[in-house]
Amino acid sequence: MGWTVHKFGGTSLADAECFRRVVDILLSQPLGNKAVVVSAIGGVTDSLFGLLESTSGKKSIKGSLAGLRKRYKGIAADLLSPKERANFLKQFESDLEDITNVLKTISSAKTASRHSRDKISGFGELWSARLLSSLLRNCEDLEQVICLDTRDVLVVEAGEMGPIVLWDRTRIHLNKAIPDDFAGVVVITGYIARNLEGLQTTLGRNGSDYSASIFGALLSADAVHIWTDVDGVMSADPRQVPEATVIDEISCNEAMELAYFGARVIHPQTMAPAIAHGIPIRIRGTFNPEHPGTWITESPARSETLIKGVSGVGNVALVNLEGAGMIGVPGTADRLFGALRDAGVSVMLISQGSSEHSICFVVPEGSADLVKTIVEQAFRVELSEAQIQNVEVTKGCGVLAIVGDGMAGLPGVAGQFFRTLGSAAINVRAIAQGASERNISAVIAAKDMTRALRAVHAS
Ligand code: ADP
Ligand code: ASP
Ligand code: MG
Repeated sequence: MGWTVHKFGGTSLADAECFRRVVDILLSQPLGNKAVVVSAIGGVTDSLFGLLESTSGKKSIKGSLAGLRKRYKGIAADLLSPKERANFLKQFESDLEDITNVLKTISSAKTASRHSRDKISGFGELWSARLLSSLLRNCEDLEQVICLDTRDVLVVEAGEMGPIVLWDRTRIHLNKAIPDDFAGVVVITGYIARNLEGLQTTLGRNGSDYSASIFGALLSADAVHIWTDVDGVMSADPRQVPEATVIDEISCNEAMELAYFGARVIHPQTMAPAIAHGIPIRIRGTFNPEHPGTWITESPARSETLIKGVSGVGNVALVNLEGAGMIGVPGTADRLFGALRDAGVSVMLISQGSSEHSICFVVPEGSADLVKTIVEQAFRVELSEAQIQNVEVTKGCGVLAIVGDGMAGLPGVAGQFFRTLGSAAINVRAIAQGASERNISAVIAAKDMTRALRAVHAS
């Protein structure tokens, strides 16, 4: 039988009623095997990361664990039979004990290793998968229900641009976990995976979307449905731009650009496995399942709309390297970005004027101080000789991007974009447009972001 993947995000799994709604949605889908990828209950991953931050104050850890216990006990009491509940809570308490032990180690070592962060932050997905699979096992219509812990199956290694899936190994594990003649539902933990050493790792924040498309590819699914709290990919984040509307169809490249520039509705890496296997992705609303949502496909039907969406990321810093000494000197960009790469800093946007007098780029605000030190170190000779005047770092910036395949080759789009920002008295500090002409981005002050998004969206 063919497979379809359904992914439910934390926003769709807030409480017991949400879990029941998810079961109803699954039962109302067409026949066929279903792989159901789940995230942690809304807010739980943040709470787990919060525990890691508070290893110095024991009191708040106890309080946070008690908060988690209360939430899960409540949901389990509402959803599960006494026997199922006892099983779930036994495992849950043992997980809380594990968490406490890891936190103790972190507290005495005074630092949290990458592995302990990954271990603690991934419990939410395990708890969601156990709750949902127990609930589904009570459905008479379903032949078989498997709860798949992706720490046993999905093997990834860290790459510079995010986790890289080791497909062959993963496929071997998956074939062992799901029998050939399987008929039913496999509930899969999103976000978590294992590395080559067999240690638990994650796909990064918001990574369950990526888990969904990975399993879509592994199972040769006919579609990946991503259920969330909005009805689809919208022309802007509806929390910032109330007039935003749902986009019917969008290309994988457009979705990737929107996601990269802040549209949290989908993780930017989600599209790659889907493109490679020709699997369409559909973003849909859990709270409005009748809505057609958004289809993300490789080549959507031609659209009248030049620009599909506007999105913005805050919390970035703009770094400007300026000096007459860089003019015509080959290799400056290589040295600059090589030094940043060696330090593991990811650069979001780069812009250089044709005079080569300056290069500016955008980095996450959290790395701004480190970046200043690295760049000053890399160009210390040029700085002391005044061939480079200074390394200027401006925190408190944001990147606003307009995205649409349709604007390629059409004059006037950039003009209208910058006119709109000018009319709204928003200062543009740097600009970038890729040669694909699918995206134009502007660096502005973060405090202007919502106003800029609204003005550009209206325009
Ligand atoms: P989930 O828990 O389902 O993964 P997320 O919170 O990760 O949900 O993503 C859904 C949220 O993404 C929405 O509530 C919305 O505020 C935000 N969002 C940002 N940009 C967009 C956009 N262009 N279209 C739709 N939603 C967006
Ligand atoms: N629960 C994880 C997070 O909050 C993964 C996800 O929701 O996609 O980042
Ligand atoms: Mg998400």
